[in-house]
Amino acid sequence: MSRVYLPIGTATATCGACSRMSEQRKPPVTTGQIFETDIVGLTLDGEGVGRFNGFTLFIEGALPGEKVRAEVVSVGKSFGKARLESVLVKSVHRRNPPCPIYDQCGGCQLQHLNYPGQLQWKRQYVVDSLVRIGKLPVAGEPQRAEAAADAAREPITVHPVIGMDDPWRYRNKAQVPIGESEGGLVGGFYEQGSHDIVDMNACLIQEEENEQTVRAVKGAAGSLGISAYNRATGRGLLRHVVVRHAATTGQRMVVLITNGLNIPHQDELIGLIREQVPGVVSIVQNINTERTAVVFGKDTRTLWGEDVIYDEIGGIRFAISARSFYQVNPVQTRRLYESAVRYAGLTGEETVVDAYCGIGTISLFLARHARQVYGVEIVPEAIEDARRNAALNGIHNVEFAVGAAERVLPRWQASGIRPDVIVVDPPRKGCDQVLIDSLLESRPSRIVYVSCNPSTLARDLRLLEDGGYRTVEVQPVDMFPHTVHVESVIWMVQK
Ligand code: SAH
Repeated sequence: MSRVYLPIGTATATCGACSRMSEQRKPPVTTGQIFETDIVGLTLDGEGVGRFNGFTLFIEGALPGEKVRAEVVSVGKSFGKARLESVLVKSVHRRNPPCPIYDQCGGCQLQHLNYPGQLQWKRQYVVDSLVRIGKLPVAGEPQRAEAAADAAREPITVHPVIGMDDPWRYRNKAQVPIGESEGGLVGGFYEQGSHDIVDMNACLIQEEENEQTVRAVKGAAGSLGISAYNRATGRGLLRHVVVRHAATTGQRMVVLITNGLNIPHQDELIGLIREQVPGVVSIVQNINTERTAVVFGKDTRTLWGEDVIYDEIGGIRFAISARSFYQVNPVQTRRLYESAVRYAGLTGEETVVDAYCGIGTISLFLARHARQVYGVEIVPEAIEDARRNAALNGIHNVEFAVGAAERVLPRWQASGIRPDVIVVDPPRKGCDQVLIDSLLESRPSRIVYVSCNPSTLARDLRLLEDGGYRTVEVQPVDMFPHTVHVESVIWMVQK
């Protein structure tokens, strides 16, 4: 896997080591060597980037601006890995990770970087991607020759990342693998490189309600002697407990993912969960008997209560079922969608397309400001949710279609739908080339791109720019504090 490193404070530093190394036969470092290095960047996995004998080494736990001592632990063709031994000069952004199991868990990658440092790094990650991959000019950054060629071009404004006031306890959903120990059921995360589950009772990015629910379910199932699934043998019943909490309504959902249909003492289990989990309105079973790491199986049935819980974002209500995709950070989701609506620049007269619409969240936000919205999404269940959510909110100016955006968009185009604005929110791999072509063909006056991956974003913006659009502004939003994930909203206009 080739990986880019991203310095925290500059977009112009480049890593010559990798290209030079590929010409050499033998890496100039060997495992076990101890070395000292300045840290010049952070990889996309949050590892510090250092150099030794001109060779690039990734060092977990090291931060840009630091000087560290480390030991080479593996050497590849173009980079190696090293273990941090000591920090000789500390970054001003370094802090002690607040979570006691930060090193073992792997769920967060940036807890040793303070929050302002995280936000600064995330913005720089977006800027560097636009400059290096997209060859785009960014305001306040040194212009590269390729970008400078387009002299008449206004540079792009990349705003500071919208962070959280309190960047902890933000996740509304927990998905916990279950195992067994002598003391009963355990649930938490897989120990690195094994099938053993480390018990976890506190996760600082998880809402406390979810923690409490998971504890109660583990305790209840354990007290009734319900067995845990064993990944190595394929035996045992309870595989995962998935819990959701809707902060605006206080409703909670418990999903038991089981290796088989029958749950011993099912009624007692439901009774204990109802007694011990405040706000629980839905207890659901999902059956997964496959020997797979995929969490959910095909069959889902409600054991008690409702099939869904309800949550509200920005005044719109959403029904969330056990399998629905729903953003995990509701506070930041609202800010993300508000940025998308702002960049769409709607007056109430427009026809808008929302491609990759999921359960129609952005579509419904847009519908309040547009004449007509068309949403397209490839997962049929998500579109069922989207239609249900439109009805739930009495929103009638949206129409949803199931299918690949790159196929449906040309069909809409052919049937005479002329969007003024197109919003895209693709998965990590970005937009399909056919979709880009059909975007360019339908020529909306604005494009709003919501992205969870700066690298594919920059690639796609380049294509759209070459096809006659200009990127005006970028608003990054921190949806996942303490992790390396970066979400951004982009505003483009016709040149
Ligand atoms: N806008 C939504 C969902 C974004 S996630 C929200 O904010 O909640 C990206 C979505 O794109 C997923 O729901 C995924 O199922 C869908 N998807 C992936 N490939 C697609 C394609 N080729 N055409 C349409 N939708 C696709």
